[in-house]
Amino acid sequence: MGGPFDLAGRVALVTGANTGIGQAIAVALAGVGARVALAGRTPATETAAAIDALGSEARIVDADLSTIEPVGRVVEETVAAFGRLDILVNNAGIIRRADFDRFSEEDWDAVIDTNLKSLFFLSQAAARPMVAQGGGKIINIASLLSFQGGIRVPSYAAAKSGVAGVTRAMANELAPRGIQVNAVAPGYIETNNTAALQADETRNRQILERIPAGRWGRAEDIGGAVVFLASSASDYVTGQILAVDGGWLAR
Ligand code: NDP
Repeated sequence: MGGPFDLAGRVALVTGANTGIGQAIAVALAGVGARVALAGRTPATETAAAIDALGSEARIVDADLSTIEPVGRVVEETVAAFGRLDILVNNAGIIRRADFDRFSEEDWDAVIDTNLKSLFFLSQAAARPMVAQGGGKIINIASLLSFQGGIRVPSYAAAKSGVAGVTRAMANELAPRGIQVNAVAPGYIETNNTAALQADETRNRQILERIPAGRWGRAEDIGGAVVFLASSASDYVTGQILAVDGGWLAR
């Protein structure tokens, strides 16, 4: 293939790759030649089959990222399978909704631990082989709620704002070691996560009226942005939060 987006010879690790945005990211990276480790608590068998059909290689790695316990093993299994690690995509995430007065400590901790704490410690573990190889790319999946407060989702807004902050913090620390750290902030994307919103006729109409592009995003829209940030085309880009939102934040 060749060209600035070519990832032949590169190895990517994608979390939460069995469905939705993570699946589309893994397939997009494989589509430009990367071999991909698929880390998550549900085995990403469908994603692995799609990557196989593209003529690339996938490896399923068992990892429940609600704690940081598996992060070292996930990186070790990836390097053992493919010999290196060039790209980490921190995509796994959950959301919990509740009214302010009833928001529980459990819903606070679960969202912060999965969406933010594991992201940092997996990045720390992944940076070690990247530094030894002379560089790499870390791409975090943020959200519109990295910029806005949302409604009934305080721990998610806190976690995703934290993802923006830690993206910049890691970018500072790792730039001298040849690692670029960026985030993609998806707008409203059609996945299982947003199925209830799509099904609610009134909410769906309100959302569509608010999006300048006039449509929901597709998981593939996020895959394209991640390919850019994973490739040498973005070697001088670091610490950025790239919104892929059909113009939502521009309005
Ligand atoms: P899905 O719910 O479809 O997918 C979430 C992924 O995260 C799944 O693979 C899920 O695995 C995985 N995951 C959740 N908890 C854990 C855990 N403890 N350990 C390992 N993996 C876990 O959501 P989306 O594809 O929509 O979201 C992907 C990312 O994009 C998330 O970070 C989300 O916050 C973000 N995002 C999504 C938007 C949207 O509009 N869809 C908008 C903005 C951001 P499992 O299937 O096993 O639960």
